[in-house]
Amino acid sequence: MSELRWHPLLRQWVAVAANRQDRPQMPKDWCPFDPGSGRVPSDYDVLIYPNDFAAFTPDSEPFSPEPGLFRKTGARGVCDVVLYHPQHNLPPSAMSVDHWRKVAGLWRRRFVELGTHPDIQYIYIFENTGVAIGVTMPHPHGQIYAFPFIPPFIQTELDSAANHFRDQNECLYCRILKEELADGRRLVTENAAFVDFVPFFARYPGETQIYSRRHFGSLAQMTESELSELAAIIKAMRMKYDSLYGFPMPLMMILRQAPAKGDWPEFHFHIDFYPIQRSATKLKYIAGVESGAGTFLNDTIAEEKAEELRKTPPV
Ligand SMILES: [Zn+2]
Ligand SMILES: [Zn+2]
Repeated sequence: MSELRWHPLLRQWVAVAANRQDRPQMPKDWCPFDPGSGRVPSDYDVLIYPNDFAAFTPDSEPFSPEPGLFRKTGARGVCDVVLYHPQHNLPPSAMSVDHWRKVAGLWRRRFVELGTHPDIQYIYIFENTGVAIGVTMPHPHGQIYAFPFIPPFIQTELDSAANHFRDQNECLYCRILKEELADGRRLVTENAAFVDFVPFFARYPGETQIYSRRHFGSLAQMTESELSELAAIIKAMRMKYDSLYGFPMPLMMILRQAPAKGDWPEFHFHIDFYPIQRSATKLKYIAGVESGAGTFLNDTIAEEKAEELRKTPPV
């Protein structure tokens, strides 16, 4: 059972899930995600698996905050694990484009399904990968958090997009993409439907974003061919990241989509990658200035990282 507590200083919700402390360190020779474990079908390609240590659960109280300083409310929502592949030690970069296409198809199906849930406002699809990120399980997987509210970074993006649209009468993201394509120095790779670049304003070393060329807000609005192109560009980027230093890059991969409810014509689908390796031997830590002040220190230059990643073959 989980609850949300209001942070009145930062004006955001904190998800309190005491049961997450009991997350086990798995026995070395057993993985619940492996066919034959008894926890998953004996044969699968990709699979939605309920998160056993969920921050949001369907049996929590509904999200219905009362006014007040020390307020709390229910954390009703859903947390899924997305099993990418049955093979335990396969890095996501080694999955075929066809297999990534299956993952993307599953994301889309689950996105649409969760969107019909009356308590769910935002569907957050992401992956943490690498021991340095704190991932306890090497099995290739991502996660879906279906939030009963719009989380703060998403709200900030929605506000930025709405303000830009109001002032400039154009999509903020389409404009950024146009500028990046015209400039070219920060481009990493592209295909018929998507472009990957290191944003001018990158916060993490080697951070990149994938923008769709066409303006739309979510997986639900993607065509079949766009879904295939998405699989191809994710595969290319994952290979580049893992080739950059010759070992699997610890990173976060975040799908940024329009909220589940309502119309968000200014929002534009994109994916963020946050690698935390600032060199072959050094990690980027989210420390005092990032955590306490909210200002990121990035000691890499976007244009140089883009060139490095562009030259790194996707193998
Ligand atoms: Zn496994
Ligand atoms: Zn756009």
